[in-house]
Amino acid sequence: MSKPAKHTGVTSGEPIDSYLPSAGNRGYRVSRYELDLEYNVASNRLAGRATVTATTVEPLARLSFDLSPALTVAKVTVNGARAPKFAHRGGKLTITMPKPVPTGTALVVTVRYAGAPVPVHGPWGEVGWEELAEGVLVASQPNGASSWFPCDDHPSSKASYRIELTCDSPYFAVANGILTGRRVRAAQTTWTYEQSEPMAAYLATIQIGEYERVAVPDSRVPGSVGPGAGVPMSAVLPPRLRKHFDRDFARQPQMMEVFTDLFGPYPFPAYTVVVTADELEIPIEAQGISVFGANHCDGHGREERLVAHELAHQWFGNSLTLRRWRDIWLHEGFACYAEWLWSERSGGPATHQLAAAAHAGLARLPQDLLPADPGPELMFDDRLYKRGALVLHALRQGIGDRPFFDLLREWTRKFRHATVTTEDFTDLAAHYAHQPLHPLWDAWLLSPALPPLP
Ligand SMILES: [Zn+2]
Repeated sequence: MSKPAKHTGVTSGEPIDSYLPSAGNRGYRVSRYELDLEYNVASNRLAGRATVTATTVEPLARLSFDLSPALTVAKVTVNGARAPKFAHRGGKLTITMPKPVPTGTALVVTVRYAGAPVPVHGPWGEVGWEELAEGVLVASQPNGASSWFPCDDHPSSKASYRIELTCDSPYFAVANGILTGRRVRAAQTTWTYEQSEPMAAYLATIQIGEYERVAVPDSRVPGSVGPGAGVPMSAVLPPRLRKHFDRDFARQPQMMEVFTDLFGPYPFPAYTVVVTADELEIPIEAQGISVFGANHCDGHGREERLVAHELAHQWFGNSLTLRRWRDIWLHEGFACYAEWLWSERSGGPATHQLAAAAHAGLARLPQDLLPADPGPELMFDDRLYKRGALVLHALRQGIGDRPFFDLLREWTRKFRHATVTTEDFTDLAAHYAHQPLHPLWDAWLLSPALPPLP
Protein backbone atom coordinates (compact mmCIF):
# COMPACT_ATOMS: atom_id res chain seq x y z
CA MET A 1 0.00 0.00 0.00
CA SER A 2 1.16 3.49 -0.68
CA LYS A 3 0.14 4.83 2.70
CA PRO A 4 -0.29 3.13 6.04
CA ALA A 5 -3.85 2.21 6.87
CA LYS A 6 -5.23 4.64 9.39
CA HIS A 7 -8.80 3.47 9.64
CA THR A 8 -10.62 0.34 10.55
CA GLY A 9 -13.41 -0.76 8.31
CA VAL A 10 -13.98 -0.59 4.63
CA THR A 11 -15.47 2.68 3.56
CA SER A 12 -13.46 5.15 5.59
CA GLY A 13 -10.04 6.53 4.93
CA GLU A 14 -8.24 7.98 1.99
CA PRO A 15 -8.01 5.96 -1.19
CA ILE A 16 -5.16 3.49 -1.54
CA ASP A 17 -4.34 5.11 -4.87
CA SER A 18 -5.49 8.57 -5.91
CA TYR A 19 -5.36 7.48 -9.59
CA LEU A 20 -8.05 4.87 -8.94
CA PRO A 21 -9.81 6.10 -5.82
CA SER A 22 -12.33 3.27 -5.60
CA ALA A 23 -9.96 0.35 -6.30
CA GLY A 24 -8.27 -1.68 -3.60
CA ASN A 25 -9.27 -2.38 -0.02
CA ARG A 26 -7.86 -1.90 3.43
CA GLY A 27 -7.47 -4.12 6.44
CA TYR A 28 -6.09 -7.35 5.01
CA ARG A 29 -3.47 -8.85 2.70
CA VAL A 30 -4.42 -11.61 0.29
CA SER A 31 -1.92 -14.43 -0.13
CA ARG A 32 -3.91 -16.65 -2.50
CA TYR A 33 -6.93 -16.75 -4.79
CA GLU A 34 -8.51 -20.03 -5.86
CA LEU A 35 -11.05 -19.48 -8.60
CA ASP A 36 -13.37 -22.29 -9.68
CA LEU A 37 -15.22 -21.02 -12.69
CA GLU A 38 -17.76 -22.33 -15.15
CA TYR A 39 -18.35 -20.42 -18.31
CA ASN A 40 -20.77 -20.75 -21.19
CA VAL A 41 -19.38 -19.04 -24.29
CA ALA A 42 -22.68 -18.90 -26.18
CA SER A 43 -24.60 -17.19 -23.38
CA ASN A 44 -21.68 -15.35 -21.70
CA ARG A 45 -22.68 -16.78 -18.37
CA LEU A 46 -20.06 -17.09 -15.68
CA ALA A 47 -20.61 -18.94 -12.42
CA GLY A 48 -17.82 -19.03 -9.89
CA ARG A 49 -16.58 -19.75 -6.45
CA ALA A 50 -13.66 -17.65 -5.27
CA THR A 51 -11.70 -18.83 -2.26
CA VAL A 52 -9.57 -16.01 -0.95
CA THR A 53 -6.92 -16.63 1.70
CA ALA A 54 -5.90 -13.49 3.56
CA THR A 55 -4.48 -12.17 6.82
CA THR A 56 -5.86 -9.14 8.61
CA VAL A 57 -3.47 -6.23 9.11
CA GLU A 58 -5.80 -4.38 11.48
CA PRO A 59 -8.77 -5.36 13.65
CA LEU A 60 -11.71 -5.99 11.32
CA ALA A 61 -15.46 -6.19 11.75
CA ARG A 62 -16.07 -6.03 8.01
CA LEU A 63 -13.99 -6.43 4.89
CA SER A 64 -14.52 -5.57 1.27
CA PHE A 65 -13.56 -6.83 -2.18
CA ASP A 66 -13.83 -5.15 -5.55
CA LEU A 67 -16.53 -6.92 -7.59
CA SER A 68 -18.48 -5.80 -10.65
CA PRO A 69 -22.19 -5.00 -10.16
CA ALA A 70 -22.86 -7.24 -13.21
CA LEU A 71 -22.17 -10.27 -11.02
CA THR A 72 -24.58 -11.42 -8.32
CA VAL A 73 -23.32 -12.87 -5.07
CA ALA A 74 -25.25 -15.86 -3.73
CA LYS A 75 -23.31 -16.91 -0.67
CA VAL A 76 -20.32 -15.86 1.41
CA THR A 77 -18.49 -17.80 4.09
CA VAL A 78 -15.67 -16.73 6.37
CA ASN A 79 -13.51 -19.51 7.85
CA GLY A 80 -16.29 -21.98 7.14
CA ALA A 81 -19.07 -19.98 8.80
CA ARG A 82 -21.74 -18.26 6.78
CA ALA A 83 -21.22 -14.49 6.85
CA PRO A 84 -24.13 -12.94 8.77
CA LYS A 85 -24.46 -10.13 6.24
CA PHE A 86 -22.99 -8.96 2.98
CA ALA A 87 -23.81 -6.04 0.70
CA HIS A 88 -22.82 -5.58 -2.91
CA ARG A 89 -23.05 -1.95 -4.00
CA GLY A 90 -21.05 0.40 -6.20
CA GLY A 91 -18.54 -2.26 -7.22
CA LYS A 92 -17.74 -3.26 -3.63
CA LEU A 93 -18.69 -6.47 -1.92
CA THR A 94 -18.74 -5.68 1.80
CA ILE A 95 -18.80 -8.65 4.14
CA THR A 96 -19.66 -8.51 7.81
CA MET A 97 -17.50 -10.93 9.73
CA PRO A 98 -19.25 -13.58 11.82
CA LYS A 99 -17.40 -11.88 14.71
CA PRO A 100 -14.83 -9.05 14.73
CA VAL A 101 -11.27 -10.33 14.42
CA PRO A 102 -7.93 -8.94 15.65
CA THR A 103 -4.87 -8.07 13.58
CA GLY A 104 -3.05 -11.10 12.24
CA THR A 105 -6.11 -13.31 11.86
CA ALA A 106 -5.94 -15.87 9.05
CA LEU A 107 -9.08 -15.73 6.90
CA VAL A 108 -10.46 -18.01 4.23
CA VAL A 109 -13.34 -16.25 2.52
CA THR A 110 -15.44 -18.02 -0.10
CA VAL A 111 -17.73 -16.13 -2.44
CA ARG A 112 -20.23 -17.85 -4.73
CA TYR A 113 -21.30 -15.63 -7.58
CA ALA A 114 -22.70 -15.68 -11.11
CA GLY A 115 -23.80 -13.43 -13.92
CA ALA A 116 -23.02 -12.16 -17.38
CA PRO A 117 -19.68 -10.38 -17.01
CA VAL A 118 -19.12 -7.07 -18.77
CA PRO A 119 -16.02 -4.88 -19.01
CA VAL A 120 -15.38 -2.03 -16.59
CA HIS A 121 -15.73 1.40 -18.22
CA GLY A 122 -13.22 4.08 -17.39
CA PRO A 123 -11.02 6.84 -18.78
CA TRP A 124 -8.92 4.12 -20.41
CA GLY A 125 -11.77 2.53 -22.35
CA GLU A 126 -13.19 -0.84 -21.47
CA VAL A 127 -11.05 -3.17 -19.39
CA GLY A 128 -11.55 -6.60 -17.91
CA TRP A 129 -13.75 -9.40 -19.19
CA GLU A 130 -14.54 -8.99 -22.86
CA GLU A 131 -16.53 -11.24 -25.17
CA LEU A 132 -14.96 -12.03 -28.52
CA ALA A 133 -16.79 -13.30 -31.61
CA GLU A 134 -15.98 -16.84 -30.40
CA GLY A 135 -14.55 -16.75 -26.92
CA VAL A 136 -13.26 -14.40 -24.27
CA LEU A 137 -10.37 -12.08 -23.66
CA VAL A 138 -9.48 -10.64 -20.27
CA ALA A 139 -7.17 -7.61 -20.15
CA SER A 140 -7.67 -5.79 -16.89
CA GLN A 141 -5.12 -3.00 -16.71
CA PRO A 142 -5.68 -0.98 -14.64
CA ASN A 143 -8.93 -1.84 -12.82
CA GLY A 144 -10.78 -4.56 -14.71
CA ALA A 145 -10.09 -7.60 -12.52
CA SER A 146 -13.30 -7.04 -10.57
CA SER A 147 -15.23 -7.71 -13.80
CA TRP A 148 -14.74 -11.46 -13.23
CA PHE A 149 -13.76 -12.23 -9.65
CA PRO A 150 -13.92 -10.65 -6.18
CA CYS A 151 -10.48 -9.25 -5.47
CA ASP A 152 -8.29 -6.62 -3.89
CA ASP A 153 -7.86 -4.83 -7.20
CA HIS A 154 -4.69 -2.88 -6.64
CA PRO A 155 -1.18 -3.73 -7.87
CA SER A 156 0.27 -3.26 -4.37
CA SER A 157 -1.58 -6.47 -3.52
CA LYS A 158 0.03 -9.58 -5.06
CA ALA A 159 -0.93 -13.20 -4.44
CA SER A 160 -0.61 -16.70 -5.88
CA TYR A 161 -3.52 -18.12 -7.89
CA ARG A 162 -5.16 -21.35 -8.90
CA ILE A 163 -7.57 -20.77 -11.75
CA GLU A 164 -9.85 -23.62 -12.74
CA LEU A 165 -12.19 -23.09 -15.65
CA THR A 166 -14.83 -25.37 -17.13
CA CYS A 167 -16.19 -24.58 -20.57
CA ASP A 168 -17.45 -26.34 -23.68
CA SER A 169 -14.90 -28.76 -25.09
CA PRO A 170 -14.22 -27.26 -28.50
CA TYR A 171 -12.74 -24.22 -26.81
CA PHE A 172 -9.17 -23.88 -25.64
CA ALA A 173 -8.80 -22.06 -22.33
CA VAL A 174 -5.67 -20.35 -21.06
CA ALA A 175 -5.03 -18.79 -17.69
CA ASN A 176 -1.85 -17.64 -15.93
CA GLY A 177 0.73 -20.12 -14.78
CA ILE A 178 1.33 -23.78 -15.49
CA LEU A 179 -1.41 -26.09 -16.77
CA THR A 180 -1.69 -28.69 -14.01
CA GLY A 181 -4.83 -30.47 -15.15
CA ARG A 182 -7.15 -30.93 -18.11
CA ARG A 183 -10.20 -33.11 -17.59
CA VAL A 184 -12.65 -33.87 -20.37
CA ARG A 185 -16.07 -34.86 -19.15
CA ALA A 186 -18.87 -35.31 -21.69
CA ALA A 187 -18.97 -32.12 -23.76
CA GLN A 188 -17.02 -30.04 -21.26
CA THR A 189 -13.38 -29.59 -20.39
CA THR A 190 -11.97 -28.37 -17.09
CA TRP A 191 -8.66 -26.55 -17.28
CA THR A 192 -6.57 -25.98 -14.14
CA TYR A 193 -3.73 -23.49 -14.01
CA GLU A 194 -1.42 -22.83 -11.09
CA GLN A 195 0.26 -19.43 -10.85
CA SER A 196 2.67 -19.75 -7.96
CA GLU A 197 4.66 -16.52 -8.39
CA PRO A 198 2.83 -13.56 -6.80
CA MET A 199 0.59 -11.73 -9.25
CA ALA A 200 -1.34 -8.46 -9.20
CA ALA A 201 -5.07 -8.91 -9.88
CA TYR A 202 -4.98 -6.84 -13.07
CA LEU A 203 -2.48 -9.31 -14.57
CA ALA A 204 -4.74 -12.30 -13.94
CA THR A 205 -6.30 -13.45 -17.19
CA ILE A 206 -8.43 -15.96 -18.97
CA GLN A 207 -8.35 -16.42 -22.73
CA ILE A 208 -10.90 -18.65 -24.40
CA GLY A 209 -11.15 -19.35 -28.12
CA GLU A 210 -11.00 -21.89 -30.89
CA TYR A 211 -7.28 -22.12 -30.41
CA GLU A 212 -4.48 -24.63 -30.57
CA ARG A 213 -1.25 -24.53 -28.59
CA VAL A 214 2.00 -24.83 -30.47
CA ALA A 215 5.52 -24.82 -29.09
CA VAL A 216 7.56 -21.92 -30.42
CA PRO A 217 10.31 -23.29 -32.69
CA ASP A 218 13.82 -23.07 -31.28
CA SER A 219 12.74 -22.78 -27.69
CA ARG A 220 14.67 -25.20 -25.53
CA VAL A 221 13.91 -27.14 -22.41
CA PRO A 222 14.71 -25.37 -19.12
CA GLY A 223 18.36 -25.37 -18.22
CA SER A 224 19.72 -25.62 -21.72
CA VAL A 225 21.53 -22.86 -23.53
CA GLY A 226 20.39 -21.77 -26.95
CA PRO A 227 17.91 -19.52 -28.65
CA GLY A 228 15.16 -18.82 -26.18
CA ALA A 229 17.45 -18.85 -23.15
CA GLY A 230 15.92 -22.13 -21.99
CA VAL A 231 12.49 -20.59 -21.40
CA PRO A 232 9.68 -22.79 -22.76
CA MET A 233 7.65 -20.66 -25.14
CA SER A 234 4.41 -21.42 -26.88
CA ALA A 235 1.69 -19.79 -28.90
CA VAL A 236 -2.05 -20.23 -28.46
CA LEU A 237 -3.88 -19.17 -31.60
CA PRO A 238 -6.44 -19.98 -34.26
CA PRO A 239 -4.87 -22.66 -36.49
CA ARG A 240 -5.27 -20.43 -39.55
CA LEU A 241 -2.79 -17.91 -38.09
CA ARG A 242 -0.03 -20.45 -37.48
CA LYS A 243 1.98 -19.61 -40.62
CA HIS A 244 1.77 -15.88 -39.96
CA PHE A 245 2.85 -16.44 -36.39
CA ASP A 246 5.89 -18.45 -37.42
CA ARG A 247 6.99 -15.52 -39.54
CA ASP A 248 6.00 -12.55 -37.35
CA PHE A 249 7.29 -14.02 -34.08
CA ALA A 250 10.27 -15.84 -35.62
CA ARG A 251 12.83 -13.83 -33.68
CA GLN A 252 11.12 -14.06 -30.30
CA PRO A 253 13.53 -16.78 -29.05
CA GLN A 254 16.49 -14.52 -29.91
CA MET A 255 14.66 -11.67 -28.23
CA MET A 256 14.27 -13.79 -25.08
CA GLU A 257 17.98 -14.43 -25.17
CA VAL A 258 18.87 -10.77 -25.60
CA PHE A 259 16.54 -9.70 -22.81
CA THR A 260 17.76 -12.32 -20.35
CA ASP A 261 21.26 -11.11 -21.15
CA LEU A 262 20.35 -7.44 -20.60
CA PHE A 263 17.71 -7.72 -17.86
CA GLY A 264 18.60 -10.94 -16.02
CA PRO A 265 16.75 -14.28 -15.84
CA TYR A 266 13.22 -14.46 -17.24
CA PRO A 267 11.04 -14.26 -14.11
CA PHE A 268 8.40 -16.95 -14.84
CA PRO A 269 8.43 -20.67 -15.72
CA ALA A 270 7.15 -20.17 -19.28
CA TYR A 271 5.97 -17.60 -21.79
CA THR A 272 2.81 -17.85 -23.87
CA VAL A 273 1.71 -15.60 -26.71
CA VAL A 274 -2.03 -15.67 -27.33
CA VAL A 275 -3.24 -14.41 -30.69
CA THR A 276 -6.98 -13.81 -30.77
CA ALA A 277 -9.11 -14.44 -33.85
CA ASP A 278 -10.42 -10.89 -33.42
CA GLU A 279 -8.47 -7.72 -34.10
CA LEU A 280 -7.20 -5.77 -31.10
CA GLU A 281 -6.27 -2.13 -30.92
CA ILE A 282 -3.12 -2.83 -28.93
CA PRO A 283 -1.45 -5.97 -27.55
CA ILE A 284 -1.65 -6.39 -23.78
CA GLU A 285 0.44 -8.05 -21.14
CA ALA A 286 -0.68 -10.54 -18.52
CA GLN A 287 1.57 -12.49 -16.17
CA GLY A 288 3.50 -15.05 -18.24
CA ILE A 289 1.28 -14.25 -21.22
CA SER A 290 1.01 -11.59 -23.91
CA VAL A 291 -2.13 -11.15 -25.97
CA PHE A 292 -2.03 -9.99 -29.57
CA GLY A 293 -4.84 -9.49 -32.08
CA ALA A 294 -5.06 -11.20 -35.46
CA ASN A 295 -4.08 -7.82 -36.94
CA HIS A 296 -0.70 -8.04 -35.17
CA CYS A 297 -0.06 -11.40 -36.79
CA ASP A 298 -0.55 -10.91 -40.52
CA GLY A 299 2.70 -12.44 -41.81
CA HIS A 300 4.33 -9.11 -42.65
CA GLY A 301 6.49 -8.88 -39.54
CA ARG A 302 5.68 -5.22 -39.01
CA GLU A 303 4.90 -5.53 -35.32
CA GLU A 304 8.20 -6.85 -33.98
CA ARG A 305 8.54 -3.71 -31.89
CA LEU A 306 5.38 -4.74 -30.05
CA VAL A 307 6.59 -8.33 -29.64
CA ALA A 308 9.63 -6.91 -27.81
CA HIS A 309 7.53 -4.45 -25.81
CA GLU A 310 5.16 -7.10 -24.48
CA LEU A 311 7.93 -9.56 -23.68
CA ALA A 312 9.80 -6.87 -21.72
CA HIS A 313 6.74 -6.34 -19.53
CA GLN A 314 7.34 -9.77 -18.01
CA TRP A 315 10.28 -8.18 -16.19
CA PHE A 316 9.02 -4.59 -15.99
CA GLY A 317 5.41 -4.62 -14.87
CA ASN A 318 4.73 -8.26 -14.10
CA SER A 319 7.70 -9.36 -11.98
CA LEU A 320 8.43 -5.82 -10.76
CA THR A 321 5.02 -4.22 -10.38
CA LEU A 322 4.33 -0.61 -9.50
CA ARG A 323 3.03 -0.02 -6.00
CA ARG A 324 1.03 3.03 -7.11
CA TRP A 325 -0.20 3.89 -10.59
CA ARG A 326 1.65 7.17 -10.82
CA ASP A 327 4.88 5.20 -11.26
CA ILE A 328 3.61 3.76 -14.54
CA TRP A 329 6.83 4.87 -16.29
CA LEU A 330 8.51 1.96 -14.45
CA HIS A 331 6.44 -0.30 -16.74
CA GLU A 332 5.99 1.60 -19.97
CA GLY A 333 9.26 3.55 -20.10
CA PHE A 334 11.22 0.34 -19.54
CA ALA A 335 9.18 -1.65 -22.09
CA CYS A 336 9.61 1.12 -24.64
CA TYR A 337 13.35 1.27 -24.00
CA ALA A 338 13.45 -2.53 -24.43
CA GLU A 339 12.05 -2.02 -27.95
CA TRP A 340 15.01 0.24 -28.74
CA LEU A 341 17.51 -2.15 -27.18
CA TRP A 342 16.11 -5.02 -29.23
CA SER A 343 16.33 -2.90 -32.38
CA GLU A 344 19.99 -2.17 -31.71
CA ARG A 345 20.84 -5.77 -30.86
CA SER A 346 19.00 -7.19 -33.86
CA GLY A 347 20.55 -5.05 -36.60
CA GLY A 348 17.98 -2.25 -36.63
CA PRO A 349 18.45 1.43 -35.78
CA ALA A 350 20.65 2.06 -32.70
CA THR A 351 19.15 3.18 -29.38
CA HIS A 352 20.64 6.62 -29.78
CA GLN A 353 18.96 7.08 -33.17
CA LEU A 354 15.63 5.92 -31.78
CA ALA A 355 16.06 8.13 -28.71
CA ALA A 356 16.81 11.12 -30.93
CA ALA A 357 13.72 10.41 -33.06
CA ALA A 358 11.52 10.05 -29.97
CA HIS A 359 13.00 13.23 -28.52
CA ALA A 360 12.30 15.17 -31.72
CA GLY A 361 8.73 13.83 -31.72
CA LEU A 362 8.15 14.83 -28.10
CA ALA A 363 9.63 18.28 -28.70
CA ARG A 364 6.77 18.97 -31.11
CA LEU A 365 4.08 18.00 -28.58
CA PRO A 366 2.74 19.85 -25.53
CA GLN A 367 5.10 19.46 -22.58
CA ASP A 368 2.56 19.24 -19.82
CA LEU A 369 3.16 15.66 -18.75
CA LEU A 370 5.09 14.95 -15.58
CA PRO A 371 6.73 11.54 -16.12
CA ALA A 372 6.88 10.68 -12.41
CA ASP A 373 3.22 11.63 -11.89
CA PRO A 374 1.35 11.95 -15.21
CA GLY A 375 -2.15 11.88 -13.70
CA PRO A 376 -4.69 9.13 -14.31
CA GLU A 377 -5.87 10.48 -17.68
CA LEU A 378 -2.37 10.55 -19.16
CA MET A 379 -0.90 7.44 -17.57
CA PHE A 380 -1.18 5.48 -20.84
CA ASP A 381 -0.32 8.46 -23.06
CA ASP A 382 2.29 7.67 -25.69
CA ARG A 383 4.37 10.62 -24.44
CA LEU A 384 4.74 8.85 -21.08
CA TYR A 385 6.12 5.77 -22.85
CA LYS A 386 8.64 7.74 -24.91
CA ARG A 387 9.62 10.09 -22.13
CA GLY A 388 10.04 7.13 -19.76
CA ALA A 389 12.37 5.46 -22.26
CA LEU A 390 14.33 8.71 -22.61
CA VAL A 391 14.77 8.85 -18.82
CA LEU A 392 16.58 5.52 -19.09
CA HIS A 393 18.57 6.63 -22.10
CA ALA A 394 19.68 9.80 -20.31
CA LEU A 395 20.65 7.71 -17.28
CA ARG A 396 22.63 5.32 -19.47
CA GLN A 397 24.46 8.24 -21.10
CA GLY A 398 25.13 9.69 -17.66
CA ILE A 399 26.52 6.62 -15.87
CA GLY A 400 27.87 4.56 -18.77
CA ASP A 401 26.80 1.28 -20.38
CA ARG A 402 28.32 -1.18 -17.96
CA PRO A 403 26.91 0.40 -14.75
CA PHE A 404 23.57 0.97 -16.52
CA PHE A 405 23.04 -2.67 -17.44
CA ASP A 406 24.42 -3.86 -14.09
CA LEU A 407 21.80 -1.61 -12.51
CA LEU A 408 18.98 -3.06 -14.66
CA ARG A 409 19.94 -6.62 -13.70
CA GLU A 410 20.22 -5.71 -10.01
CA TRP A 411 16.84 -3.95 -10.24
CA THR A 412 15.14 -7.09 -11.58
CA ARG A 413 17.01 -9.31 -9.10
CA LYS A 414 16.47 -7.30 -5.95
CA PHE A 415 12.78 -6.61 -6.54
CA ARG A 416 11.87 -9.84 -8.37
CA HIS A 417 8.14 -10.58 -7.91
CA ALA A 418 7.79 -7.56 -5.63
CA THR A 419 6.19 -4.12 -5.90
CA VAL A 420 8.26 -1.02 -6.56
CA THR A 421 8.24 2.77 -6.61
CA THR A 422 10.25 5.37 -8.48
CA GLU A 423 12.22 6.01 -5.27
CA ASP A 424 13.22 2.34 -5.14
CA PHE A 425 14.74 2.78 -8.60
CA THR A 426 16.44 6.12 -8.03
CA ASP A 427 17.85 4.90 -4.67
CA LEU A 428 19.31 1.82 -6.34
CA ALA A 429 20.64 3.83 -9.29
CA ALA A 430 22.62 6.04 -6.89
CA HIS A 431 24.89 3.06 -6.18
CA TYR A 432 25.84 2.87 -9.86
CA ALA A 433 26.78 6.52 -10.39
CA HIS A 434 29.92 8.43 -9.48
CA GLN A 435 28.08 11.74 -9.44
CA PRO A 436 24.79 12.74 -7.80
CA LEU A 437 21.82 11.85 -10.01
CA HIS A 438 19.38 14.42 -8.58
CA PRO A 439 19.90 16.87 -11.44
CA LEU A 440 19.10 14.10 -13.92
CA TRP A 441 15.93 12.99 -12.09
CA ASP A 442 14.84 16.62 -11.63
CA ALA A 443 15.19 17.33 -15.33
CA TRP A 444 13.90 14.07 -16.78
CA LEU A 445 11.41 12.70 -14.26
CA LEU A 446 10.25 15.56 -12.09
CA SER A 447 9.71 18.34 -14.66
CA PRO A 448 7.29 18.39 -17.58
CA ALA A 449 9.65 20.37 -19.85
CA LEU A 450 11.69 18.16 -22.17
CA PRO A 451 15.44 18.54 -21.47
CA PRO A 452 17.96 18.41 -24.34
CA LEU A 453 19.10 14.90 -25.21
CA PRO A 454 22.54 14.24 -23.69
ZN1 LIG B 1 3.25 -1.50 -22.42
